[in-house]
Amino acid sequence: MVRVRFAPSPTGYVHIGSLRTALYNYLFAKKNNGSYVLRIEDTDQKRLVEDSMVNLIECLEKTGLIHDEGPTFDNGKLIQKGEYGPYIQSERLDIYKKYLSDLLEDKHAYHCFCSKERLEEVRENQRRENMTPKYDGHCRNLSKEEVERRVAAGEEYVIRLRMPENSIISFYDEVRGDIKINSDEVDDQVLIKSDGFPTYHFAVVIDDHLMGITHVIRGEEWLPSTPKHVLLYEAFGWEKPTYVHLPNILNADKKKLSKRQGDVAVEDFLAKGYLPAALINYIALLGWSPDVNEEIFSMEELIAHFDVKRVNKSGAVFDVNKLNWMNGEYLRKLPTEELTKLCAPFMMETGYVTDEQFEADFSYFEKIVDAFKEKMDKFSDIKTEMKNLFEYDGEVTDEIREMLQLDTTPVLAESAVEKMEKLDEFTPETLKKVFKEIQKEKGIKGKSLFMPARIIATRQMHGSDLMKIMSILGKEEVIKRFENFRK
Ligand code: GLU
Repeated sequence: MVRVRFAPSPTGYVHIGSLRTALYNYLFAKKNNGSYVLRIEDTDQKRLVEDSMVNLIECLEKTGLIHDEGPTFDNGKLIQKGEYGPYIQSERLDIYKKYLSDLLEDKHAYHCFCSKERLEEVRENQRRENMTPKYDGHCRNLSKEEVERRVAAGEEYVIRLRMPENSIISFYDEVRGDIKINSDEVDDQVLIKSDGFPTYHFAVVIDDHLMGITHVIRGEEWLPSTPKHVLLYEAFGWEKPTYVHLPNILNADKKKLSKRQGDVAVEDFLAKGYLPAALINYIALLGWSPDVNEEIFSMEELIAHFDVKRVNKSGAVFDVNKLNWMNGEYLRKLPTEELTKLCAPFMMETGYVTDEQFEADFSYFEKIVDAFKEKMDKFSDIKTEMKNLFEYDGEVTDEIREMLQLDTTPVLAESAVEKMEKLDEFTPETLKKVFKEIQKEKGIKGKSLFMPARIIATRQMHGSDLMKIMSILGKEEVIKRFENFRK
């Protein structure tokens, strides 16, 4: 049975790359009727950020990546579901201790008493000689007696993995094929830190083994660490999992996606009004090519098509314009009522509408959303549209001035005011009639009619359906705007 895990460290926000790792694990599990485990890797106590586990679980739930096993909240209470727990590494310290003593006994690991200063000096010398910094093996061959004496004397120490000399470590990666590396190129990795906590490298192997993980699907930044993990599997005599290292997600400049060039936090995308389904659809295609020439996939379709063999080797560029386009596609498929409810918090933020109004006249909110949805990529875009509409302070460009200076414009404004004043209902339909009549009676048509009318009503050259917009602004406001342009 396929068992996979997503194993984040709770160090703050959820990076878009982490969500992709979670997604590929989820898709692979579902595709193979397997289990998808969430494991919290919190052994680096210095990097922990309070509440980030809560935030992480919330993000995963919002995006639909519900795990089969692992920590979750049940009515606000943290529980752990599944039979391989605990799934939070800081609750597994006793387990790691037991496996450590096996390793020490078999001499696959050793105590190292080197001070930070000494290690820094070694590294500095290696750097000066253009060597890759690596532990020099100073404590590799201490006698059992010496180790016992120094431990008893209270000296600080770490436990290191003893890399064999000049031997080939090999493993299979679904994306990159067979990988072979000489052990001389790999450091004697610290397995237990001086605070007694295991490092990621030690804990990850023990947990993946004990939790029965069959496939390790993770970012390619972990590829250089894999030989250390493989060596641990071999030291314990355990079967290794199959590895799937996912390509990096890149900025447009082909560097690794970073916060400096825009949003990378999943929670920020959601807060801006991206739809979880669109975000999932978009990131699914970052590093994986489906077997069909399509771009819009529901979660069920992603599960049906997903195949790790089609994960790409090269990095995938994160293109926010493409995400915007895709989100717009999803957004416009929503029924107006639902879309309006989702846009409402953003609309209220603008201050042009209130929550009392929302309760009392929902259809007004629907009208606004309906008028602008063609122009929106995400919910928060409604704010710009509303600002343009209600603040009426767009720049008067030369093009705009030209249109307003047409001889016919004052005639148009005069006639529009007259006719609109008579309207009982101020709807797109009645307004359309007004402009048809002006066209007929005054002979003003096409661009000379609709351009000045739009500019007078909105101070913009282009925009959504003008009749819809005017009916949102209401009779009084629209007449006021037209009155300023009469003869
Ligand atoms: N805890 C690691 C991280 O934060 C997990 C790496 C792995 O999946 O092995 O990304």
